[in-house]
Amino acid sequence: MNESRPESMSSFWMPFTNNRDFKAHPRLLVSAQGMYYKDVDGNAVLDGTAGLWCVPCGHAQPKIVAAVSEMVGQLDFAPTFQMGHPAAFDLAERLMDYTNHKFGHVFYTNSGSEAVDTALKIALAYHKARGDAGRTRLIGRERGYHGVGFGGLSVGGIGPNRKAFGPLLPGVDHLPHTHNLGKNAFSRGEPEHGAELADELERIVALHDASTIAAVIVEPVAGSTGVLIPPQGYLKRLRELCTKHGILLIFDEVITGFGRLTTPFAVDYFDVEPDMMTTAKGLTNGTVPMGAVFSKKFIHDAFMEAPAGIELFHGYTYSGHPLACAASIATLEVFKEQGILENAKSLQPYWEDAVHSLRGLPHVIDIRTIGLVAGIELESILGKPGARAFAAFKQAFADGILIRTTGDIIALSPPLVLEKKHIDELFGKLAAVLKNLD
Ligand code: PMP
Repeated sequence: MNESRPESMSSFWMPFTNNRDFKAHPRLLVSAQGMYYKDVDGNAVLDGTAGLWCVPCGHAQPKIVAAVSEMVGQLDFAPTFQMGHPAAFDLAERLMDYTNHKFGHVFYTNSGSEAVDTALKIALAYHKARGDAGRTRLIGRERGYHGVGFGGLSVGGIGPNRKAFGPLLPGVDHLPHTHNLGKNAFSRGEPEHGAELADELERIVALHDASTIAAVIVEPVAGSTGVLIPPQGYLKRLRELCTKHGILLIFDEVITGFGRLTTPFAVDYFDVEPDMMTTAKGLTNGTVPMGAVFSKKFIHDAFMEAPAGIELFHGYTYSGHPLACAASIATLEVFKEQGILENAKSLQPYWEDAVHSLRGLPHVIDIRTIGLVAGIELESILGKPGARAFAAFKQAFADGILIRTTGDIIALSPPLVLEKKHIDELFGKLAAVLKNLD
């Protein structure tokens, strides 16, 4: 494989990137193994973000590499409509086991964005299938991120992501976000204050009437907007209100799935069960694009009880692609064989102490942790939001650690196979970066 710098970088239009700045100062990764990337200059870079939250088992896990290689030679593609292949069914059963049979069915997509839009469409179609066609409103939350499809963008609550693409879907409302730096700063686990923010759903119901509302979607822990952890009791309250009003509750677990909080999913951590759950990323350990929607049996049943025909007119050419299924089956095996969740659980206290040891360093105004996730919020430079954290990101990469920033928040989410020595390296280097920041 080519490990040298590309001759030209002009044609590739990079996603979510300041293309002009990047192409002037590119950061290029050429290989990955275990906890480390290697950059184009041959430097090792400790992966503090599991890629983009998607490599819980560490890079280049031999079992996953072998499974994908074998499948590409055996069944490179199978049509998805009116046709199937065994690995897709096998994986679905294994996923039911992995999620402790909290759900009855799984629908495959190719990304988190597709999983979100699929879940929203299932919610709308579910109510129609039951003769409750008035339920069309969708409710998201401020500072929520649900991908880049028009559905996900509409229920998402990030202004800059939305503003170029309006007016988006009609009939969408947003709950307030739960972030409260004043009351909850430097929290460990679920912050104390803010469960009552779930009651804002009552206000929306009073305004529009429950009979018009199809679904509420939230990330249990909002990742992309800087690790916003739900206040104690908030998710349970949201569940109660949705049940009371016949509204479907969807958890977007694209980043919180697959051990990120030391449990299989966030539903296990918070002990709250949504009606649907979206996921992606860790589902294949980041190797082959794949997303999924898990649904409770009663939702699937509503479609099966409708007049015979195609029950859900929705899907993708690559839904349940054989390579993705092979990668996911192998990922679940690695989770079991290598005790990935157990490792995450045993290291969590050490991780949490290491993150909070950054308290008191220049510009650090908040630190929040849950599972193997950390958000470190820096004070913004006046008139230049995001500039300080981005400077930290660039320096960190030069010093051999990969961190992620969103606004002026540093978000960390390492592969779950890490050891204490990786935690020491990550925070040793990050502390040095923060001490020397302007
Ligand atoms: N939902 C959430 C909660 C996410 O964090 C992301 C991606 N970071 C998505 C949806 C979109 O996933 P994808 O980029 O795979 O489309």
